[in-house]
Amino acid sequence: MKLTFERVTLKLKHPFILSGSQYSEKEVIHVKLHAYGEAGIGESSPSRYFGEPPESVLECLSSVSSLIKHEQDIPLQTLHQILNNRFPKNYSARNAVIMAAYDALGKSSRKPIYQLLGLDRSVAPKSSMTIGMDDEDKVKKKLKEAESFSVLKIKLGFKDYDYDLIKIIRNHTNQVIRVDVNEGWTREEAAGKIEWLSKQGVEFVEQPLPKENMEDMVWLKSRSELPLIADESVIEATDIPKLSEAFHGVNIKLDKCGGLWEAITMIHLSKALNLKVMLGCMVQTSVGISAMAHLAPWCDACDLDGSLLISNNPFPEYISENGEILFNDKPGLGV
Ligand code: MG
Repeated sequence: MKLTFERVTLKLKHPFILSGSQYSEKEVIHVKLHAYGEAGIGESSPSRYFGEPPESVLECLSSVSSLIKHEQDIPLQTLHQILNNRFPKNYSARNAVIMAAYDALGKSSRKPIYQLLGLDRSVAPKSSMTIGMDDEDKVKKKLKEAESFSVLKIKLGFKDYDYDLIKIIRNHTNQVIRVDVNEGWTREEAAGKIEWLSKQGVEFVEQPLPKENMEDMVWLKSRSELPLIADESVIEATDIPKLSEAFHGVNIKLDKCGGLWEAITMIHLSKALNLKVMLGCMVQTSVGISAMAHLAPWCDACDLDGSLLISNNPFPEYISENGEILFNDKPGLGV
């Protein structure tokens, strides 16, 4: 097996402002894995928040490359296990290798990944489109660009401006709104804002409180009129059982959990615990977006707009301008 990789800089259409940070470029790492008689491609879109700067991904990929170069076609199950054991904290790096292995396996079987998994693409929900925090004029411009989507995801966590932002949006559109707070509220603030948001056509709220505040989350869940979805509070499958008292669902992301194999485990575990399954993404190209999109028939909600937020995606889009997933019959990832 042979692994090669390169660093790529993506440019954002609009600077991204979150509760706590702002950025206008994103570094990703593209990998190629020669395995199962094919060359599979994969992508790592690492996040410093989760402790993985691009440098650590490159370092981990060098180690993986040396580790597997004398091996013949390790089965995917074993490859996942080896990477998990050797590089437990390198989630985003592992994700790229596992993604490329699925792509190669699909190409060698001449089937798209969703077909290999036996999934029914007709039941996949449409993706939401994210609207980042901005002033009124810029928000109106973004709303115009997102008018073909049936669901919007709004970033909140900006004190009193949260109310203004939702009012600006509601003055312009009746599209369903999902809210992502990125840990930006306090307990009492969350209770008050969720009560107000429940009357504004909001479907659910993602990560209202800092991930450490599990007791407060249990308190909030007991009185919240809207479903609460864990994002920063959930990394991998072992995190899920303890979340069911505090949240109604989980947001699974490939760069956060270590790849497709782990994500599939998380989907089944969440369903067994009666938790809603949301599939999310990073800012990234169609490579990483398509990988998660293949699992979309299993989910309740998906937010796979990461490639639509950049201006230099080198691959064809896998998500249409209205959020529909563009499944095709090409083998592997299909990009
Ligand atoms: Mg989130």
